[in-house]
Amino acid sequence: MKALVTGGAGFIGSQVADALIENGHHVEIIDNLFTGRRENLPAKAVFHHLDIRSDEIHDVFARGGFDVMFHLAAQMDVRKSVADPAYDAQANILGGINLLQACKNTGVKKVIFSSTGGAIYGEQVEFPAKENHPQNPCSPYGISKLAFEKYLQFYYSEYGLKYISLRYANVYGPRQRGDGEAGVVAIFFERLLAGQKAVIYGDGEQTRDFTFVGDVVKANLAALEYSDIGAFNVGTGIETNINELFDIIKEIVGSKQGRIHEPGKPGEQRRSVIDHTKINNAMGWKPQFTLRQGLLKTAEYFRKL
Ligand code: NAD
Repeated sequence: MKALVTGGAGFIGSQVADALIENGHHVEIIDNLFTGRRENLPAKAVFHHLDIRSDEIHDVFARGGFDVMFHLAAQMDVRKSVADPAYDAQANILGGINLLQACKNTGVKKVIFSSTGGAIYGEQVEFPAKENHPQNPCSPYGISKLAFEKYLQFYYSEYGLKYISLRYANVYGPRQRGDGEAGVVAIFFERLLAGQKAVIYGDGEQTRDFTFVGDVVKANLAALEYSDIGAFNVGTGIETNINELFDIIKEIVGSKQGRIHEPGKPGEQRRSVIDHTKINNAMGWKPQFTLRQGLLKTAEYFRKL
């Protein structure tokens, strides 16, 4: 198959691209290298250094003749979306529409979208959240991801463009950047390994559903094989609070640093955990890595940096 991966220089996208190539698919990547890194790009992928909002992407689609688009390019920082909602919407909504128009015009058959189960549901009222949980995002990022899911439904009903929306929990693993504001696992590893101060925002009792990137890649491959459409949670169903996470990483790293708390950040939810029964029943996907196993793999990566 001919696959286009947007955001293929990023943390998750580059590992989806690697897996597609390993499975014998032709892969092209569009990425503006905003947070992505050139060294993540698979050697066998064709790389287009472009912004998804640009007109030039239409030439890439016209020449590429893609069967499927994996759409991962995004402004994906919740705090940044609060600080600059217009930028978030430009990248995540307008950029996404630009891509969908290109898919429609060039006969792409299916879109596999990296959505968020962390941010779409907002403050949860059921734990873990199923896909039909009320959707009241607490941040512009959650709103832009939800809006794009609605555009996917529109392009399917109007033009027959199939879609799968994979609503990830908090993804962690090798290649995640620790130099931004998002990605608490990467931030803790980078800071603690360098002997620097690692801060817990708020009381640290806020919870997340930490899901290993290798499992997320497998969900993307399963979505490629699946013939129906819809939105599916991709998470472990297990809640871990930030204090517990800090303590496990501290122990793996062998750091002596105690917990350091600073005031919480706006736009962040208190508890987040999602149910994966639907994707398990539909595609046979379930997480393979326990948190400790995934963190040990992640530690190997950060130690080599
Ligand atoms: P990432 O920042 O590593 O990847 C995003 C990639 O998109 C980067 O390579 C970046 O350079 C590129 N990009 C950003 N804006 C672009 C634009 N306008 N044009 C072209 N390229 C652009 O982040 P990630 O964690 O790998 O996230 C991948 C996808 O998964 C995102 O859509 C994100 O919203 C989604 N997601 C991530 C998580 C998580 O916990 N990491 C959770 C839920 C959903």
